[in-house]
Amino acid sequence: MDIKTLLAQAGSRSDEKTGALSTPIYQTATFRHPALGESTGYDYSRSSNPTRAALEETLAALDGGVAGFAFASGMAAIAAVFQLFGPNERVIVTEDLYGGTFRLLEKVFTARGLEVTYVDTSSFEEVEKVWTPDVKGVFIEIPTNPMLKVAALPRIAKLAKESGALTVVDNTFLTPVLLQPLEHGADIVVYSASKYLSGHNDVVAGAAVAGSDELAERIYFYQNTIGAVLGPQDSWLVLRGLKTLALRVERQQENALAVAKFLESHPAVSRVYYPGLPDHPGHERLRELSTGFGGMVSFELKDTALVPHILSTIKIFHFAESLGGVESLLTFPAEQTHADMPTELRSRLGITDALLRLSVGIESSDDLIDDLSKALNG
Ligand SMILES: *Cc1c(COP(=O)(O)O)cnc(C)c1O
Repeated sequence: MDIKTLLAQAGSRSDEKTGALSTPIYQTATFRHPALGESTGYDYSRSSNPTRAALEETLAALDGGVAGFAFASGMAAIAAVFQLFGPNERVIVTEDLYGGTFRLLEKVFTARGLEVTYVDTSSFEEVEKVWTPDVKGVFIEIPTNPMLKVAALPRIAKLAKESGALTVVDNTFLTPVLLQPLEHGADIVVYSASKYLSGHNDVVAGAAVAGSDELAERIYFYQNTIGAVLGPQDSWLVLRGLKTLALRVERQQENALAVAKFLESHPAVSRVYYPGLPDHPGHERLRELSTGFGGMVSFELKDTALVPHILSTIKIFHFAESLGGVESLLTFPAEQTHADMPTELRSRLGITDALLRLSVGIESSDDLIDDLSKALNG
């Protein structure tokens, strides 16, 4: 079945009893047992809940995985997956990483003995260079945040497989509509479902999808044991959002390309980072891996002094953190999403004080361009 069909019908056959098309919200902590030794399949909502189960089945189907897991946030999903690695094991991680994941690794996991090596995963050679026998996992963002570099996913996943290491892909930016990481050799896919999957800036949620039964069992153990599960109301909101994911992503990337082309031609802009532009270094690779380039655009201004002016005059774009919703957002990575990253690393990666990031929404692209044009012209 095409992913568009899976999405439109997300959860709509989950209630056999009444035939409700919209998945019922099972707002219950516990479930009555019919008799000693018998169960309806549910006993306590941390372990499983029917509304969350409908979402989790959908998540697994969208990525072609064996099981999906819904968490209270993207960070909770990522933290559960990093539990798979033990002290004195090494993971190789995309260097221009989501700021929250960087903080989780630096402040929580390395303190307990996990070794983390950050590398430019858009270069297979760089990954190979830092590969050592103690590498047990690779964690990839594709494209990266906020520089939108495109990882050499299939080659890295192949190297990992040959060495007995796991490949984990944070697919928050492209979503299963555009990229199917398991098909390209990944073992686990993680998401911040607060972004495109739910799509309306109204819920914080996370997801993990396992590519094998063994990994599913291990992730479920941590989900149930640590307990950062997604509640039934929020599970319903994510299911509701998923129904229009394909439509939203299509429109968002159409708008993103129009905005990127406009920015490229603007005299106040020194660089535009959008993988959909033919001269972007990751353009060809992403075209082979995915069916689209997504809705995220970063750009650098010639003059840093223009940043405060833009942030205060922009009207349609919201000056806010986050991404992937129907409303367009403008983020200042150096002070918002990447504030926890050391200054030297930030500047080496190109996350300068003149860099702005756009999450392009589903509004009229003419209005979005007009809004940017007014703000850029001072
Ligand atoms: C937002 C985000 C996260 C964290 O997800 P939360 O839902 O905010 O906890 C992880 N990875 C990426 C790429 C993100 O954009």
